[in-house]
Amino acid sequence: MVRVGVRLSCYNSASCRSKKLYHKVLAIDMINPFLQSPRAVKMLEAIVNVVFPRSCVSCGLSRKNGGDYLCRLCRDDIFVIGDPLCNTCGIPADIDYDYPAEGFECGWCRKCGFRFDRARSLGLYDSVLKELIHFYKYRSQPGAIDELEPLLRDYFATCREEYQGYSVTSVPLHVKKLKERGFDQSFVLAHKTAEILDLPLLVRPLARIRETFPQARKNRTERFQNVRGAFEVVSPKTVCDKKILLVDDVFTTGSTVNEVARVLKKARAGSVQVFTLARA
Ligand SMILES: [Zn+2]
Ligand SMILES: [Zn+2]
Repeated sequence: MVRVGVRLSCYNSASCRSKKLYHKVLAIDMINPFLQSPRAVKMLEAIVNVVFPRSCVSCGLSRKNGGDYLCRLCRDDIFVIGDPLCNTCGIPADIDYDYPAEGFECGWCRKCGFRFDRARSLGLYDSVLKELIHFYKYRSQPGAIDELEPLLRDYFATCREEYQGYSVTSVPLHVKKLKERGFDQSFVLAHKTAEILDLPLLVRPLARIRETFPQARKNRTERFQNVRGAFEVVSPKTVCDKKILLVDDVFTTGSTVNEVARVLKKARAGSVQVFTLARA
């Protein structure tokens, strides 16, 4: 356990392929047999981090004055989405001040007819947020989400009342993916959201009953077809007549959250709002 813990923290850098970091890992491996306690691990980590300072996962530079994953400049550089935006899917809207922004709905939402009532995202899925989410999701670093906690707290402080009476749940991960990744990234995020908003968390009222192909290389229509029938409500009583805040990491076309919202509403859930960390 000690060995794994130290190794993971060593890979906590965008530049882990660099010689410097390989040396850091090698150095830890060499002294690993001498590690006897968590205290020893902490002391060793502190020493190693002084000799080989970990870098920011986004820009690769020193994280001096920053958090555990991002430097201060990168963290301040995350663009938080605000008005004006599409009232349904939450995409930033390029409308000027003379246009009545309240109730504005983008062309895609008018055409698509989403099954959820409203979606919002913390920020845009580019540069820093994209790098951090990749690190969180694909390199199995659930702690990376803590980096965004201050931003999430500030964001929800301005719209807290809009989620009153809601219960939080997440887009479920297929059990095979869960075993591969080692953690459910959307569930961790839902847990954090419920904690910040002080709302009840519904633990897996849904299941992903079918594996889906990766969405990345599919167009909009294919994405909607790919997730059709992939989810099932496994405990209908938990969601019946409930207002649900559905949490996921990234909203791209909205196909996944739309399909989950569809099955939730089929199970007689009330309003379904969506919240994602990022909006592509
Ligand atoms: Zn940085
Ligand atoms: Zn829209």
